Amino acid sequence: LTIGDCLDAAAAACPEREALVSCHQNLRYTYAELRAEADRIARALLAMGVERGDRVGIWSLNCAEWALTQLASAKIGAILVNLNPAYRARELEHALLQSGLSVLVLQGAHRAGGEIRSHYVDILCQLAPELRDAPTPHNEQRRLDCASLPQLRQVVCLDPELATPGMWHWEELHALAEAVPTERLAALQAELQFDDPINIQYTSGTTGAPKGVTLTHHNILNNGYFVGAGMNLQPAERVVIPVPLYHCFGMVMGNLACLTHRATMIYPNAAFDPTATLRAVEAERADALYGVPTMFIAELEHPEFANFDLSSLRTGIMAGSNCPVEVMKRVIERMHMEAVTIAYGMTETSPVSLQTRTDAPLEKRVATVGTIHPHLEVKIIDPASGQVLPRGTSGELCTRGYSVMQGYWDNDDATRQAIDTHGWMHSGDLAMMDDTGYVAITGRIKDMIIRGGENLYPREIEEFLYTHPAISDAQVFGVPDDHYGEAVAVWIRLVEGAELDEEGVRAYCRERIAHHKIPRYVKFVDDFPMTVSGKVQKFRMRQTTSNELG
Ligand code: ATP
Ligand code: MG
Repeated sequence: LTIGDCLDAAAAACPEREALVSCHQNLRYTYAELRAEADRIARALLAMGVERGDRVGIWSLNCAEWALTQLASAKIGAILVNLNPAYRARELEHALLQSGLSVLVLQGAHRAGGEIRSHYVDILCQLAPELRDAPTPHNEQRRLDCASLPQLRQVVCLDPELATPGMWHWEELHALAEAVPTERLAALQAELQFDDPINIQYTSGTTGAPKGVTLTHHNILNNGYFVGAGMNLQPAERVVIPVPLYHCFGMVMGNLACLTHRATMIYPNAAFDPTATLRAVEAERADALYGVPTMFIAELEHPEFANFDLSSLRTGIMAGSNCPVEVMKRVIERMHMEAVTIAYGMTETSPVSLQTRTDAPLEKRVATVGTIHPHLEVKIIDPASGQVLPRGTSGELCTRGYSVMQGYWDNDDATRQAIDTHGWMHSGDLAMMDDTGYVAITGRIKDMIIRGGENLYPREIEEFLYTHPAISDAQVFGVPDDHYGEAVAVWIRLVEGAELDEEGVRAYCRERIAHHKIPRYVKFVDDFPMTVSGKVQKFRMRQTTSNELG
């Protein structure tokens, strides 16, 4: 089964059911409409000369066209390359060249307060000045000829007002599709194989430069299905997806979980916004809500939180980084999400490999990332010796099975380092498994603090700090220290209006945790350095604090 087949089957089985709602664009598609529109875009891509295995990039915030490009490219076997909306010229150029894109679909404007700005168009024209005045290619013979980006053949801008003469704009694709008969698309779709690569997804860049991960229909379609099954997602249930589509959380756990269960995908906004998210849950009577922990924190702390009717919610997913126990409890109690699940995964494993069961005891559901997904294996090893560790001991988590990536795109060395000869993907994450098979993540190997020869896990200290009523978010990391090798540092964001000073933090710690875990450096901040997928980048905090300390 391919992604295109799955869409066709859904459109045949429930044509009238709502498939996709884009709140900020005021757009709604039934499954029949979504399929018809995806087919049209797929034919337009064929008209542009895109072939199976060619790379089609999408560089955009969340919108309906994102999902349509995902589905259309999958229908013709083109490899979708998801480009981080936060990229600037250098990063975009690197990704374009590294993945050898032949078509790029790009966001037009980010409209704020009546002003139309498009750094997307500006940045691309900086790299390919030909786009400013090249004639729009009117058929497959007329292609772009960019000296600086030699593989790039066509550019599609989602905003007709901002498309330059060298670009198509999205609305023109309908006319372009006319040139390709539907039979040609159907014949091509029938030839695709489930293990064809279909996606190059970039990792978040939490620990350094993002890596391109090559994934197949088989990898991500199945993973989407099992993620939905993990929530008991029912046909016609409605899922609010405020996480970026650019990332696997949105495009696989969001879009493909909905598609495989014939549920409804709801995008509240182009980029995460707590008000738009809460409003979408209420207005669309959503059953499920997704988010990384920081998104749920922002929603819970919204000044008008109590005014939103969230009673339709049943389940959802928190994932992406450590899910603090206190935040999980508040989500269960205050957001009606009795059956919320935690998922753990990484882009390299499609992404999810562990998820909590909705019927597990509460303490497992708030303090662990659950048990292994169907058809996958997990083990926890000593990273030095490779030996499997006894239950209850912290070591490196490894996963094996259908969801493991084909490899890093065009980087065999990195692939060989990550996937061993027995097929195990080494995660770089530290975890512990209990006697019942539940796994708790204790942190990343890179984030572990080694103070005077003793291993400290930032997560443990963070969980403790969360119990202080004035602390909204705490991020612990290590900084170089002459005496101990590393010292504990923390950045803290306070609950609005609350007061707490450095000495107050230490006094709170002194009575309750061992002295070597007490943060030596405390800094109060309004924000943390974040990836687009909403993850805190500790390596940046470490740089800043180390510089400040001299
Ligand atoms: P990069 O690999 O570029 O540094 P990244 O690892 O954050 O970035 P992703 O593939 O988006 O890129 O994220 C996977 C990582 O996110 C996992 O390896 C793990 O560290 C973390 N993670 C995901 N889900 C959870 C969870 N539920 N609990 C704790 N950590 C999680
Ligand atoms: Mg990673």
